[in-house]
Parts: sequence; C-alpha cells; structure tokens
Amino acid sequence: MLADTLSETLQHLENAAKDAHRPAPALLAVSKLQPAASIAALARAGQRAFGENYVQEAQGKIGELAGMGLEWHLIGHLQSNKADIAARLFDWVQTVDRHKLIGALSRYRPADRAALNVLIQVNIDDEASKHGCDPDEIPALAEAIVAAPQLRLRGLMAIPAPHPDPAARSAAFGRMKTLQDALAEQHPGIDTLSMGMSGDFAEAIAHGATMVRIGTALFGARPA
Ligand SMILES: *Cc1c(COP(=O)(O)O)cnc(C)c1O
Repeated sequence: MLADTLSETLQHLENAAKDAHRPAPALLAVSKLQPAASIAALARAGQRAFGENYVQEAQGKIGELAGMGLEWHLIGHLQSNKADIAARLFDWVQTVDRHKLIGALSRYRPADRAALNVLIQVNIDDEASKHGCDPDEIPALAEAIVAAPQLRLRGLMAIPAPHPDPAARSAAFGRMKTLQDALAEQHPGIDTLSMGMSGDFAEAIAHGATMVRIGTALFGARPA
C-alpha cells in the first residue's frame, strides 16, 4: 500500500512541476513519529531520502535501518547541545539558523565522512514563535558555512506560516525563491530550495522548490 501511495505522490509532484514548467523536485519522506517498519516499507518501494524532526527519535530508527543505504535529513529545530550527535547521525541538516550551530556541526562532523550538507532555515513569515534566521542574516551565515571545513552549503529551507489563503502562501514561497536566487549569485554551487509539505507542495513547486518535504500524504496521519 505504501508503494502505491509513493508512486501516486511522485506522480502528483511531476504533474505540479509540469504545470509550472519546472523540473520535478526531490521528494523527502517525512517520517517523524512513524515506526521503522513503515520507513523500511517505503525504502523497499524505492524511496531513499527521509526527514526526521527529533534527534533522539531519529537515532533509534537510523540505527535500526542502517545498511539500507538511506539518506537522513534533520528538519526539526536543533539544540546546540545535540549538534555533536546530529553531526554524526545525519547526511543533511536543514535547520541551520545561527552561527553557534555552524561551528559545532563542523567540529563534530567526523573527518572521515563526507561533508555534512547544510541548508539555512529562514523565518520567512517573521513569526515570533518560529525558528529560522531573518532573511538579512543569510549572507553572513552562508559565508560561515562555506568557510567551515566539514560543511557543504546546499541552499535554503523554510516552513511558511500555515496560511489558509493560497495567495498568501504563494507570496512566502515567492520571497524564498528571490532569496535563493540572490544567494546563488554569491554561491553558484547551491542547488536546493526545500519548501512545500503535503498541503501546499503545488504552490511551492510553482515557485521553484527543488525539494518538498511530505509526511501525511505519504504515510497517512501520524500516530499520536
Ligand atoms: C512534519 C513536517 C513536514 C511534513 O508535513 P506533512 O504536512 O505531514 O506533509 C515537513 N516539514 C517539516 C519541517 C515538518 O516538521
């Protein structure tokens, strides 16, 4: 069943991309609160990249599924005191939003591993309660990431406010695309704009998302 849902989801992404005359984005399967067995089933159906929100929860599942050749992305807020675990555990950290984290992640990333892929998380709707940097902090954070030996800057990530009005959601995605294009002028190697979830991936793709993070539409409702 998960295999059917996966192929339907990939088809939806492709259709949205075709409508927007853009390349289809990469699919990150958001597996927070899902058991390892569900992740393994999706992996057997061909999905390789998975997103987790909580370092501790991810640690158990990543250990259980080691050997399946999966790629793990941290998409939840990272506390500085967990940067050492995260730097060893994940292939990507999508939630880098402050300088302190950059130093810690680079320091703890083992020298014999490939550089840790990093996205800068942007607080695109300027929400007081949300993590992510202000847009004007992006250039300095990017410089620090590029200077960190064990980190590789890949682009930007955002979780726009869950606005019921599609036009307002689109505006936030559009602002992210503008920020991404500006960053690419300084750092032409970046290739990832991570935005869009189960409820709004079509708008995100229309505005240039290269990676969408989808949980509910793939796995169904998360266990409580
Ligand atoms: C949970 C989560 C998602 C997936 O949300 P769905 O609505 O279940 O697709 C995507 N990104 C982040 C950062 C999340 O925390």
